[in-house]
Amino acid sequence: MSKVYAHRDLKICTKDCLCLFVCPTGATNNETGQIDKEKCIGCGACASACPAHAITLLPRKMPPAQQKTKAVCASLKQVIKNKVKEMRMLDYMLKKAESETEKKFLKALKQSNQVLLEDFMRESGYMLPESKNTRDFLENIKEEASINKEVTILLEKLEAND
Ligand code: SF4
Ligand code: SF4
Repeated sequence: MSKVYAHRDLKICTKDCLCLFVCPTGATNNETGQIDKEKCIGCGACASACPAHAITLLPRKMPPAQQKTKAVCASLKQVIKNKVKEMRMLDYMLKKAESETEKKFLKALKQSNQVLLEDFMRESGYMLPESKNTRDFLENIKEEASINKEVTILLEKLEAND
């Protein structure tokens, strides 16, 4: 089994289908739109051929999350809370906005805020699926009836690495 596999970002993919022609195993031709991880041999031909840069080679086994001090994590969490508040404020302002220019500006602000929020979450370890932070978070929300089944499956599938 190769150490890496190809992942297609469906938000960027422009469906040119070049990856379908160069893949030696047919892994790129999958009904779900995602590349078949089991068939992929990690050769990278699809990533080199993709004009949209929509394909990335990812390690099959993620390295453990970088350790951070408690003080750094606490600060990051505080920034995340503030960013969530800002997002709610922007949502409210968007509802009240009257002109198109105002709406466009607020949407752009919201998008950039979202990117920052994701960065901060990733830095504090929450977007590394295998990290303890993420597993603890999933355990905490597991009791929520509407998502219990999905969260339980996720927890079963996630390989712990720290
Ligand atoms: S080559 Fe890139 S853009 Fe084209 S279908 Fe494949 S992933 Fe999508
Ligand atoms: S890395 Fe190689 S085997 Fe894997 S999907 Fe891309 S072209 Fe196919």
